[in-house]
Amino acid sequence: MRTPRTIITCLSEESREERDKAIVKNEKTGILVMKEAIEKIRVEALRELSEAKDERHVEDVRIRYLGKKGRLTAVLKNLKELSPEERPLVGQLSNELKKELELRLSDALRRFLQKSRRDKLSEERIDVTLPGRCLSLGSKHPISQVTERIVEIFSALGFSVAEGPEIELDYYNFEALNIPKHHPARDMHDTFYITDEVVLRTHTSPVQVRVMEKHSPPVRIICPGKVYRRDSDISHTPMFHQVEGLLVDEGISFGDLKGVLTVFIHQMFSPDTAVRFRPSFFPFTEPSAEVDIQCVMCRGNGCRVCSNTGWLEILGSGMVNPAVFRMVGYDTERVTGFAFGMGIERIAMLKYGIDDIRLFYENDARFLHQF
Ligand SMILES: [Zn+2]
Repeated sequence: MRTPRTIITCLSEESREERDKAIVKNEKTGILVMKEAIEKIRVEALRELSEAKDERHVEDVRIRYLGKKGRLTAVLKNLKELSPEERPLVGQLSNELKKELELRLSDALRRFLQKSRRDKLSEERIDVTLPGRCLSLGSKHPISQVTERIVEIFSALGFSVAEGPEIELDYYNFEALNIPKHHPARDMHDTFYITDEVVLRTHTSPVQVRVMEKHSPPVRIICPGKVYRRDSDISHTPMFHQVEGLLVDEGISFGDLKGVLTVFIHQMFSPDTAVRFRPSFFPFTEPSAEVDIQCVMCRGNGCRVCSNTGWLEILGSGMVNPAVFRMVGYDTERVTGFAFGMGIERIAMLKYGIDDIRLFYENDARFLHQF
């Protein structure tokens, strides 16, 4: 058998004789030194692995021992310095250690993965004994609430609800209401035109015309709905809500108009609210009246809201102009009627003391929850 050599004989330029001398001097033969080195690597690798704190440490150990420049890899590189008989033996030892370390490494890795998964799960654990979080419930929008109240009051007075299209023909929005093209009253309505003949309705009055075209008197309706005008500031929005009312029958007088609207205002606000009818002009009514109520903020003493007049304008009204009746074929000798219209936002602002109309459409829950 060939004389084993020591590990220090690895220098390639050394001659065989010099190596042999070194072997003789050294008690430990090459294979023993290799075995010892492998065992040392094993002990140290396992110790380091047992001290590893997490996956990163385990990976460090793998790189230090099994990596390209790792300690076990270095040993294998020295195999060529051994005799052909020794090489398989040391090779086998190294491979065994490599396999063992790989196994231990993957074990350790799995342990850490399981631990981190456990930690994560316990962190995210649901405590079913904690009190539940309340779902925040929505509430009815103040505009809907006021609309419902208006409908309720007029329903009790015998009115029924009629509806019509929001995209309306110019004819129903203007002409049938005694507002021909180029009539100066069209300036009051900053209209959104879709075509020359089609508009977004600027008021709910066209519904009255549509109802009168289909039904003969008596007619007793209110028409709540969305209307559109090119206006936007603290008291105007491009879309807002209106309720218009129409009562047509034989013998209807301005007294009926005053009675119905006074009852409405007293029920909507309070029974002691003072009401004032002030002459005005609308193309579709004659005579016409604006209706004012005593300022709800200052009770008539004068404040910023009522411009120190003590009165607030809340709706427009009047006796239906016979020209409108003629357009729908009603006998103006037999029937008379009155009509009125109001902005629902305006009523809501006065009822709840809101000073900016845009608050209704910002969908701020803090605002909406107050109603
Ligand atoms: Zn006032």
